[in-house]
Amino acid sequence: MIKLGIIGYPLGHTLSPIMHKAALDYLQIDGDYIAIETPPDQLFDRIKYLKIEGFKGFNVTIPLKVWMVPLLNEVDEYANVAGAVNTVIISENKSLYGYNTDIDGFIEAIPEDLRKNLNSKRAAVFGSGGAARAVAIGLSLLGIDNITFYARNYEKAIKIKKVLADNFPDVKVNIQEYNEFANLSYAAIVVNATPIGMQGINEDISPINKRSIEGLNENTIVYDLIYKPRETKLLKYAKRHNLYTIDGLEMLVLQGAKALSLWTGVESPVNIMREAALKSLKGE
Ligand code: NAP
Repeated sequence: MIKLGIIGYPLGHTLSPIMHKAALDYLQIDGDYIAIETPPDQLFDRIKYLKIEGFKGFNVTIPLKVWMVPLLNEVDEYANVAGAVNTVIISENKSLYGYNTDIDGFIEAIPEDLRKNLNSKRAAVFGSGGAARAVAIGLSLLGIDNITFYARNYEKAIKIKKVLADNFPDVKVNIQEYNEFANLSYAAIVVNATPIGMQGINEDISPINKRSIEGLNENTIVYDLIYKPRETKLLKYAKRHNLYTIDGLEMLVLQGAKALSLWTGVESPVNIMREAALKSLKGE
């Protein structure tokens, strides 16, 4: 029996148990994946519990992705660069190995032919939190030339800039005050890594004004990390303007598939995981 789970706080919204259980069933692996709400002050004890209970691994989500790092025995290269993990393996001897599969999910959700087009281009990223870090590393791995962050929190953006300067010295980074009216006509890809547009938070708002979307180049990709709703106000504007859009569901599914492969050692059934997530989103 393989025991898996997700820790974070709050966890009300998580689709991960549904996706992972569907995959385990499909693979005929005897296992379970449960959501375990874990406020930050309980992180240390929760990890002890997961080890004692014989968990093989777990996902980590808001707000624990950064706090988890110092508690690990080993960290994967890019998780270390990101300073954040979303996937942990517990080994036989109870050592903890951390990975950041958000980076893989972010990259792989961009169709391969479009990924190539991003080489040496410019990107605009809204937000400077944990997901923005994974996005910054993903874009750097894709060979982007320049990233402009539009950040409410300047300090966090400066930290990302430093991480990129240390690890991807060829990538130029600009930081601008968060501005929904920004002129983004330079960007080959625009990414929303803020929760603006998310169901239950500010669903009726777009992080980027309609006018700025209309000013985008016709080949620009508009990528919203939000998956609930799938079609955010931002993506609605972009579609109306005939731009190529990517919502957050594929990233969610692909980061989960990568995590499951790390735990099981077998290829994950991406289609089954996607289907399960979609069904759950539709409330079926
Ligand atoms: P986070 O660490 O809390 O960062 C959120 C960022 O958005 C911060 O820079 C925050 O600024 C900024 N922000 C929040 N509200 C804002 C507002 N009203 N105006 C301007 N900036 C604002 O969260 P995260 O983990 O990066 O997640 C960000 C989004 O990505 C969420 O919607 C999450 O669901 C999504 N996500 C999706 C996936 C996926 O697999 N599809 C994976 C990870 C995350 P402050 O620092 O000033 O608060």
